[in-house]
Amino acid sequence: MAHRPIYLDCFATTPVDPQVLEAMLPYFTEHFGNSASITHQYGWEAEAAVARSREILAAAINAAPEEIVFTSGATEANNLAIKGVAEAYFSKGQHIITVQTEHNAVLDPCQYLESLGFEVTYLPVQPDGLIDLDSLEKAFRPETILVSVMAANNEIGVLQPLAEIGRRCRDRAVFFHSDAAQAIGKVPLDVQAMQIDLMSLTAHKVYGPKGIGALYVRRRHPRVQLAPQLHGGGHERGMRSGTLYPPQIVGFAKAVALGIADMESEGNRLNQLRERLWRQLSQLPGMHLNGHPTQRLPGNLNISVEGVEGQALLLGLRPVAAVSSGAACSSTKTAPSHVLMALGHSAALAYASLRFGIGRFNTADEIDRVAECAIAAIQSLRQASMAN
Ligand SMILES: *Cc1c(COP(=O)(O)O)cnc(C)c1O
Repeated sequence: MAHRPIYLDCFATTPVDPQVLEAMLPYFTEHFGNSASITHQYGWEAEAAVARSREILAAAINAAPEEIVFTSGATEANNLAIKGVAEAYFSKGQHIITVQTEHNAVLDPCQYLESLGFEVTYLPVQPDGLIDLDSLEKAFRPETILVSVMAANNEIGVLQPLAEIGRRCRDRAVFFHSDAAQAIGKVPLDVQAMQIDLMSLTAHKVYGPKGIGALYVRRRHPRVQLAPQLHGGGHERGMRSGTLYPPQIVGFAKAVALGIADMESEGNRLNQLRERLWRQLSQLPGMHLNGHPTQRLPGNLNISVEGVEGQALLLGLRPVAAVSSGAACSSTKTAPSHVLMALGHSAALAYASLRFGIGRFNTADEIDRVAECAIAAIQSLRQASMAN
């Protein structure tokens, strides 16, 4: 595998940082205990590692350790938050507000709840991908029980105004859930300042292992009740049964700690690389930047290219760069990205989109090579279509 393409798909997943792997390794073969075994040292060792990790993760979002519920990732955390609140509070109201540009792990649970009789408002976004706070205000009803708005979009990287949303929810005593899968360890998150009641996290977008995440569940002011979605041994205060997975949990906490330790300088570096890529690509005519130009995740560049076929462009880039078109999880579908369509794009522009996800291990030299290859691919595709 001498010449694998340059990995530029860090919003689909990231490699495990070697420091994360090193922290995880002792928990596979040596400290392998079940953290629920309270009668012997093996269990205590595992429990101590889980407890330390819980503290690190809680501190990362200004929560208390008891408010962290480990899950298999953000998909499960979103399902637990949305379906768990809906089931626990359905007698109070059956209306939920979310946004058209959410991840499918939010949209699909909402659609499922609609099939059970709940009503869901899917807020539109402005052309820059941000929600309009006035339209949020207008969407509240007396029977609204939950608002779910993501922290950072996985396709276009835009950062929603969480504190402004949180304030509006708190004023009306409506719970506020945020899918922060893309935000944790990359941009500051504070569940107190932002008045967030539930927040979904995952490790694998921030150089941690796949298959581990968490749901933050507020315990005070106000306390959130959740109907569990997995029933069993009563782990995680009854909210999520199943034996905990200490190596993954330790890796998750290490990954988030590393992300936070370097957040500002790494964010600046990634933004410089992003600007470097966009400066070169935007010299061509007919290039569109998708999403707000500055209120977005470091390292995210999502563009639409006029006059080319998205799939042909991906094919041209494939030997040099691993990038994606739309969301990775929907790249097997042929429908254009629901996020880009929500920005008001034509289907043609939505199809002709590329998402570059620049990450911790990318260099300026790699960015230049990818820019050169992308420019050549776009020019030759445009020439070919003119010749036809
Ligand atoms: C990746 C992602 C998810 C899914 O997370 P998993 O841990 O892979 O289940 C959910 N929401 C957003 C915004 C994501 O980027």
